[in-house]
Amino acid sequence: MRLSGNGVVVTREAFLEWLSRGKTFVTEAVARRFRLPFPAVPTPKTILLPQREALYRFFWAKRTWNVHPLPPEGTPVLLLAAPCEVKAVTDVLDAVFLGNAPQDPHYATRRKNLFLGALGCTFFEATCFCTRVGGHPLSREGADFFALPLSSGVYFEGEGLSGRPLASSEKEELEALVADLGKTAPPPFPEKTPEYLYEAFGRDIWEDIAWGCLNCGACTFLCPTCFCFDLALEGRLRGAMIRTWDSCMFPKFTLHASSHNPRSHPMQRVRQRILHKFSYHPLRKGVFGCVGCGRCVALCPVNWDIREAVERVVSCAL
Ligand code: SF4
Ligand code: SF4
Repeated sequence: MRLSGNGVVVTREAFLEWLSRGKTFVTEAVARRFRLPFPAVPTPKTILLPQREALYRFFWAKRTWNVHPLPPEGTPVLLLAAPCEVKAVTDVLDAVFLGNAPQDPHYATRRKNLFLGALGCTFFEATCFCTRVGGHPLSREGADFFALPLSSGVYFEGEGLSGRPLASSEKEELEALVADLGKTAPPPFPEKTPEYLYEAFGRDIWEDIAWGCLNCGACTFLCPTCFCFDLALEGRLRGAMIRTWDSCMFPKFTLHASSHNPRSHPMQRVRQRILHKFSYHPLRKGVFGCVGCGRCVALCPVNWDIREAVERVVSCAL
């Protein structure tokens, strides 16, 4: 659902007071664009899939292994995120952790406790490309509520906060914003992008594309849609099974016990990152596995740009 235009206008004070009623966070993108007095988390992933968590505890006693699954924990949290970050939750994380049986009980509990709001974006940063992958800066799709700062207050769509109808000058302001964003929106990737990339698997171009990438994995940890994790036992006779984030950029990610590694070469890992987000996930789920937030572009230490990589592979197929 896109911005309906049927919301209400509330004062900034009323909006902040409403947000302050519980445990409230904003994402770094929201904190950067709008000054809001709440602690910032990198992305919703930080709340839904902690970087490190114990799944069960075990100990050896009386010649028996005792295993105790840890109950899922989740306290109610309100998170205000950019529309692309909301999409990362609904299109990718939910699909992975809740979309198939068995569901992940830890993720499911935290998700049930998450009240997720979208704060519309009023401009595209140089690294933003949500409109290339099916998103929009004013999308409220998947969000529990939508808000947008106006010159006279905050436009609000959702339950729980009442305000006054939009004045005609505010309607004009919204229309002008929509028109302005329409003019500056990066165009979508070609419709057949997932198929083109899939067919390009064996092409020579990948070495060239992967050139420069350090395989440091920063992009995957910062990405709101990357969800790969590792499981490791800590302790010998007493300990815990720990889940931690992992990255397809790391050489040991696919290392087999036999010592065979199907992705031992850096190029293969870069290709996997691109194909998973722009080919495999959309071919399976019907949506890109990248929401175009641009964090990986903005924060890569060597300015490696995933948009250019996709464009280059697609241009070979056209
Ligand atoms: S694209 Fe950039 S951030 Fe990602 S692994 Fe390569 S060098 Fe690191
Ligand atoms: S732009 Fe980069 S960080 Fe953002 S969703 Fe896409 S791959 Fe992940």
